Amino acid sequence: MGALEIEQVHKRFGKTVALSDVTFDVGDGELVVIVGPSGCGKTTLLRIVAGLDQMTSGEVRLDGAPISNLASSRRDIAMVFQSYALYPHMTVERNIGYPLKQRRVPKTYARERVRQVAESLEIADLLDRKPGQLSGGQRQRVALGRAIVREPQAFLMDEPLSNLDAKLRAETRSEISKLQRRLGVTTLYVTHDQVEAMTMGDRIAIMHAGRLQQFGRPLELFDQPANVFVAGFLGTPPMNLIRGRLARTGAGTHFTMPGEARALEVPSSAPVPEVVRAAGSDNDGAHVWLGVRPGATALVSPGELAEASRHQITLSGPVSRSELHGDIAYATVDIGGQELTITLDDMRVPDVAHLAIKPEDIRWFDSAGDLAPVPS
Ligand code: ATP
Repeated sequence: MGALEIEQVHKRFGKTVALSDVTFDVGDGELVVIVGPSGCGKTTLLRIVAGLDQMTSGEVRLDGAPISNLASSRRDIAMVFQSYALYPHMTVERNIGYPLKQRRVPKTYARERVRQVAESLEIADLLDRKPGQLSGGQRQRVALGRAIVREPQAFLMDEPLSNLDAKLRAETRSEISKLQRRLGVTTLYVTHDQVEAMTMGDRIAIMHAGRLQQFGRPLELFDQPANVFVAGFLGTPPMNLIRGRLARTGAGTHFTMPGEARALEVPSSAPVPEVVRAAGSDNDGAHVWLGVRPGATALVSPGELAEASRHQITLSGPVSRSELHGDIAYATVDIGGQELTITLDDMRVPDVAHLAIKPEDIRWFDSAGDLAPVPS
């Protein structure tokens, strides 16, 4: 087994920059998920690691050794594709055993090894069938079996669940996680689905427009998103981001939103980021984003607002929309033309929502959209 290191990888297709200075690592036996919207460069990066594409510059190392100049077939890496890429005319047994045949492994050993792998994936009873006689989930397991049988140093998986329906996808997601842990194989897994990333990844690499936005453990990214892109990408629904200006006056700090007459008073006990500007220095304060997760807003009654505002940020607005998702409900609150999604504890939807937010649940982002840390 080996760790995978991706260092300053850059890839250009003509004028298109598909990857720009991407650096992160996958520890020995770790599962790292690359996640991001369509066109962010996920597949390109995976193909470079697999040796199917050449990078423009940078380095990829497996178990400490550079592999950039090795042909794809000489890299000890197995790839599972979105399309499964099974051979339709071959049985499941021959599909799984194909990499062993290529390596001229003795037939009796190969048969035994294929059987073991098929048993571990619970498809031993399907060995005589052809891919056309299998369900999507079964095909997906055959594709996994073909990757496992080689005992490679690393797995690369490109959206392996995207052809499955929602229920099967959730089941297979946890099966792949368990299997990966059991085998302890270093794995790089690509998806555009943030739920898949959050539930499967030991660590997550979030990409946008060819650049790595943040790399870390799922909860770290959820709790401390590095920028507004990450904040708006993770979570269902994602973090609310409200634009405004943060200014310090003699009396305290306040947050003014465009189109809103009333400024929000930030409680004097609340830490504010260093980007805050004194009112009067440029008259308006610093452009910032106030970020808050839907679950971190509490509904209060009009009578409780004054008391709540002593230690919390409070804001009010009409409810423009609500959505019931079985046991949870969301409402959209209109704050001076900006939308804020909140979760409702009970199913009663108020006409006007009065909200209180604890200062520690607020994330501030500066005008460039980067997390603005608050002094602890
Ligand atoms: P998706 O989720 O839609 O598969 P992705 O994140 O995997 O997207 P890539 O396929 O890696 O994205 O593409 C990254 C960028 O590189 C895109 O702008 C794409 O148009 C461009 N690109 C990818 N392959 C080529 C190619 N062979 N020639 C030219 N441009 C390419």
